[in-house]
Amino acid sequence: MDKTIPKRFEGKVAIVTASTQGIGFGIAERLGLEGASVVVSSRRQKNVDEAVEKLRARGIEVLGVVCHVSNAQQRKNLIDKTVQKYGKIDVVVSNAAANPSVDAILEMQESVLDKLWEINVKSSVLILQDAAPYMHKGSSVIIISSITAYQPPAAMAMYGVTKTALLGLTKALAVEMGPNTRVNCIAPGFVPTHFAASLIENDIARRAMEEKTLLNRLGTTQDMAAAAAFLASDDASYITGETLVVAGGTPSRL
Ligand code: NAP
Repeated sequence: MDKTIPKRFEGKVAIVTASTQGIGFGIAERLGLEGASVVVSSRRQKNVDEAVEKLRARGIEVLGVVCHVSNAQQRKNLIDKTVQKYGKIDVVVSNAAANPSVDAILEMQESVLDKLWEINVKSSVLILQDAAPYMHKGSSVIIISSITAYQPPAAMAMYGVTKTALLGLTKALAVEMGPNTRVNCIAPGFVPTHFAASLIENDIARRAMEEKTLLNRLGTTQDMAAAAAFLASDDASYITGETLVVAGGTPSRL
């Protein structure tokens, strides 16, 4: 795959939040393989160190910074360290999310509601407030939403609603950050990462998930990374304010 991969990000600097595993790691790896200097981050130093090691082993220029996205000091440090080392920011991928409860919306404790909005929506706004002064003409933001944004499933209804909010956030920020910065969104379908593991604990559940797609398979982190790389690249230079559903044909919208 590396031989055919384009090199659309040479000389570019990309920050990906929540990127020490799963979809965020996949996106960081893809941008790095395409030539970007990538900044990976998550809550735990050990995970950051391991991700940095893996990416370096693939020949990627990488900086690792601990950043819990709801910690203001750590968000500021992520941006400061990036700018100190690389001098600019070309791409920000806002990928962090929490899904702490399967409770119905009407049963959900206020503290759980607060956590969902804080991590899934507010942190995206705040990280972009910090990053925006260092973004310039031709830069790009990718927000990671979810297929559940379109039809929140019962067991993750409030999570789905926060992901719906990200579709609106994408539209609003595309206005505020244009014309210099494009802002787009990805709505992944089901990808068997740590985050989603509990939903496919057995073969029957896995088959049911696969059958919801038209392509008869679950998504991969590489599928999401390819879409993110496209939207962040100059190949998408006339696309802003849009959400790309990457879900194997799972029903979403017209
Ligand atoms: P994942 O494999 O569980 O990875 C989560 C990553 O986020 C880890 O690197 C984790 O590292 C980090 N993290 C967790 N909480 C964080 C926080 N508060 N601040 C900073 N980093 C944090 O998750 P994933 O499935 O790739 O999900 C990534 C995104 O895709 C989320 O926005 C999710 O909603 C979305 N999505 C996923 C699916 C799916 O099926 N997997 C479908 C649709 C949308 P630490 O533990 O070190 O913090």
